[in-house]
Amino acid sequence: MSHKTTQKRFVAGARCPECKEMDTIVCYYEDDVFVRECVECDFSETISNEDEPAAKQQIISIKEL
Ligand SMILES: [Zn+2]
Repeated sequence: MSHKTTQKRFVAGARCPECKEMDTIVCYYEDDVFVRECVECDFSETISNEDEPAAKQQIISIKEL
């Protein structure tokens, strides 16, 4: 059995681009890849490191909350 420490966090104030619901987006790291997904629909997006600075800003704001 593998113990993967994948910690999912809700992104406060984030809106799902698919179903347009608020506060349904969770994000986590899978290996070194940042993953963003919606708990209400099938939306899921991966962002590789350094790819999108906006993703990093979001992570910082999550920590502050
Ligand atoms: Zn959604």
